[in-house]
Amino acid sequence: MITDRVPRARARRAEYERSDRTRELALPEDDRLVDAARMIEQRLVAEDRAGLERACRTFVERAAAFWGIPVPPVDVLPKRPLRRYRDGGRTELYGDYDFDSGLIRVFMRTAVQKKVTSFGTLFSTLCHEFCHHLDRHLFGFEDTPHTRGFYERTARLYHHARGEPYRPLVWTALPGGGYRVDWARMRRLRR
Ligand SMILES: [Zn+2]
Repeated sequence: MITDRVPRARARRAEYERSDRTRELALPEDDRLVDAARMIEQRLVAEDRAGLERACRTFVERAAAFWGIPVPPVDVLPKRPLRRYRDGGRTELYGDYDFDSGLIRVFMRTAVQKKVTSFGTLFSTLCHEFCHHLDRHLFGFEDTPHTRGFYERTARLYHHARGEPYRPLVWTALPGGGYRVDWARMRRLRR
């Protein structure tokens, strides 16, 4: 995970810095999101796309109700689109969030081998896209930049809904500005 670079324009920069500082996220004290996450896992393992879509919608409905924000629409599509670059490289799209409609899209299968996505990958993508929605409707971060705060709030939501303890992310500064998660250092700290 790599953060976006700090924007130069003053207003966007101020928003970026507020997002970066906002590391906490209030979470439900009950299991409403944990139960919804479990439904997502069950429907994914069963390879039931329609059921998976319903479970993802239930998750975001419960989450939106908890934070008192509009419910974003969610589509679960059969397979990840492939994006090709001019240099011949290609990458898969894991999910996205539409700024105008609030639509969240996640994908059930990988682009090339058409394997069912792992629960961890699909669910972390759903949490990531939902946190963009949360940024705009709860925090008022219109640009919803990928800052350290954004990734930490996303990780809090993800681990909470999986019934796991939250472990703070460890960051390393990048030479050109921005940060990346230092997974090696995090693994060492866990031992
Ligand atoms: Zn994003």
